[in-house]
Amino acid sequence: MKFSKVIGQSQLKEQLIGMVKSGRISHTMLFAGPQGSGKLPIAMAYAQYLLCQNPTDTDSCGTCPSCRRVAKLEHPDLHMIYPVIKRKSTDDAKSEDFITSFREMYIKHPYFSYNNWIQKLNAENKQAGIFVSENKTLMHKLSMKSYGDNYKVFVIWMMEKVNQVTANKLLKALEEPPEKTIFLLVTDRIELILPTIISRSQLARTAMLKVEEIKEGLISKFGVPDAQAEKLAVFADGNFHKAVSLMDNTEELDQNLERFANYFRHCYSFNVEGINSMANEFKTFSRDNLIDFLEYSLFLIRNNMALNLHLEQMVRMTDEERKFSENFHKLINPATAHLVSREIEEAIFHIGRNVNTRIVMFDLAIKIYENLRTKA
Ligand SMILES: [Zn+2]
Repeated sequence: MKFSKVIGQSQLKEQLIGMVKSGRISHTMLFAGPQGSGKLPIAMAYAQYLLCQNPTDTDSCGTCPSCRRVAKLEHPDLHMIYPVIKRKSTDDAKSEDFITSFREMYIKHPYFSYNNWIQKLNAENKQAGIFVSENKTLMHKLSMKSYGDNYKVFVIWMMEKVNQVTANKLLKALEEPPEKTIFLLVTDRIELILPTIISRSQLARTAMLKVEEIKEGLISKFGVPDAQAEKLAVFADGNFHKAVSLMDNTEELDQNLERFANYFRHCYSFNVEGINSMANEFKTFSRDNLIDFLEYSLFLIRNNMALNLHLEQMVRMTDEERKFSENFHKLINPATAHLVSREIEEAIFHIGRNVNTRIVMFDLAIKIYENLRTKA
C-alpha cells in the first residue's frame, strides 16, 4: 500500500521517507505503538517505498510492477513472517504454509488485529506462534541473493510471538545483517521484546489515531456514512481495528445507550426484578456483544466523569449520549468512576473466561448499586 493510504501517522511517514532520502536507512526498524494504530500498514507502506521502482519524494508510485507485487504480498524480495498454528504438536508450522490465508486477510484490508487473524485460522483453542520451524526458511531466505538489485525486506508481524530460539538466531542476523537486507519488526507489545533486539533496532513509534483520522478512514476505506463514522470513531477509542469490527454491528451499538440507561437505572434504584430481567437478556448475547456493551459502558463512564469535572475538552459523545448524561454525570465523580469502572473491567475479564454471563451481570449490578449509593 502507498503511504497515502495509511491512516494518520504523518510524522512517522515523514521520518521514514526522510531516512530513505538521506540514505540513512536503518537495517532494523521496530514498529511499536497502540493497538489498532496501523503498525503493519505503515510498515508495509515503507516496504513498498523501499522496493518501488519509481518512488517520488513523498510516496511509492503504486503502479510499477514492484509496487503491485508488494500490494499482493507476492514480491520475491518481500518476506512475511507472522504467527501460525500447529495442527499437531509435531507440525513444522511456518508462515509460508499459511500465505494464502494471510494474503486474503491483508488484501481485504490491511487493518486487522491479531485476534482477527487467529479467527481466520480458526485457531481459538490452539497455540499460535512463530515457531522454531520458521528458522530454517528464514536462514535460507537470508542467504539468498535478492531478485532485483534492490533490498530484501523481511516483515515480522507480531514479533512478540517469536519463539526464543528463533529470536536468538534472528539476533545474530541483526548483529551482522546481510547486505541490503532490511528487517521491519512489528509488535503490539514492545515490553515482551528481547532488550537485545530493541537495542539493535531503530524505533518507529505509531501515534494513537485521532477520532477525525478514524472517521476519515472509515469513510474513505469503507464508505461508512458520515454520522455513523463519527459514532464508531468516537467509540473506537483510537483503535481502528475496533472501529472496523463494530462496523457490522452498528444496530447493536445504537441500542447500547438505551440498554446502559436501563441497566444503570435498575442498579441505582436497586430494582431486583429489573436487574434480573436484564441479566436474563444479557445471557442471550454473544460474549463479544456483551463485552462491546461493557466497553461502551466504560466509555460513557469516562465521558461522564469528564463532565463531572468540567473537563469539556475531554468529552466526546453524540447528542443522544449528551442528553442522557445531563443528569447521569452528577453521579459519576472520580471515586465512583474509578470503582464502577474497576467492577466493569472485572466483569469483562470473567466474561472472556467463560463464566456464566447471567451471574456476572447480576453481580455487577449489585456492585454498581453499592458503589453509586455509597460514593455518589
Ligand atoms: Zn512503484
